[in-house]
Amino acid sequence: KEFRNKIKPNWCPGCGDFSVQAAIQRAAANVGLEPDNLAVVSGIGCSGRISGYINAYGLHGVHGRALPIAQGVKMANKDLTVIASGGDGDGFAIGMGHTIHAIRRNIDVTYIVMDNQIYGLTKGQTSPRSDVGFKTKSTPNGSVESALNVMEMALTAGATFVAQSFSSDLKELTSLIEQGINHKGFSLINVFSPCVTFNKVNTYDWFKQNITKLSDVEEYDASNRMTAMQTLMQHNGLVTGLIYQNSQQPSYQELLDGYSVQPLAVQDLALDEEKFNKMMAEFM
Ligand code: SF4
Repeated sequence: KEFRNKIKPNWCPGCGDFSVQAAIQRAAANVGLEPDNLAVVSGIGCSGRISGYINAYGLHGVHGRALPIAQGVKMANKDLTVIASGGDGDGFAIGMGHTIHAIRRNIDVTYIVMDNQIYGLTKGQTSPRSDVGFKTKSTPNGSVESALNVMEMALTAGATFVAQSFSSDLKELTSLIEQGINHKGFSLINVFSPCVTFNKVNTYDWFKQNITKLSDVEEYDASNRMTAMQTLMQHNGLVTGLIYQNSQQPSYQELLDGYSVQPLAVQDLALDEEKFNKMMAEFM
């Protein structure tokens, strides 16, 4: 099971995205996938290149639209494991509408966000995840906007799987991706993935000093949504591990009549005139 390909990533040395790539490759192998069982769909940004660096079906989409494409792939072929990926600007700014609705739809897709709290590809501008006071070319006097707490947002939007990890912790990140793939529904995994070139505040050392691992929180119960919210608020969102999982709620696909019968991708969709006219009549 070889999820590595021969393409050399052109991320800056030390970029957190390398670990995310490695974690996806390891997790896919650990859960028993073959490259032709997996589709990786990405948006635009440095992180968006990831779909080209994994030996699987890959689609590098347009800015903020990884999730609509990924959901379309899953709807067309239920037999594929689908991972959507992108950065915090991609998913939480231009793509936020899609993120919220994919969460509440609970479609069986794993969404991995490489959260570096800045726009890296465009050479360093403030993102929706940048903290107040963060200075960049777009906010030279410091950002006056609050950073979005995405994990709290996901909980309030009805997420059934919410996790967060850190590029330095490959073991935890790999395990969470495995759990996300195995979760029957939408899984959101936000990864603190430092941009070593443009973000000189939220560095590897900064995260090591500020992160609390949920595995160190006594009797943390990831099945309790209230506990999850309180813990996030207590730690200003800077926790890693499985924050919340609801395994009881059926996924979007499970609630759809006929979805499980035969994937669209293998159905004979050729339409003759009679079938076409009948289909059109149903819409009239
Ligand atoms: Fe990574 Fe930042 Fe370099 Fe982009 S600019 S590849 S996010 S370190």
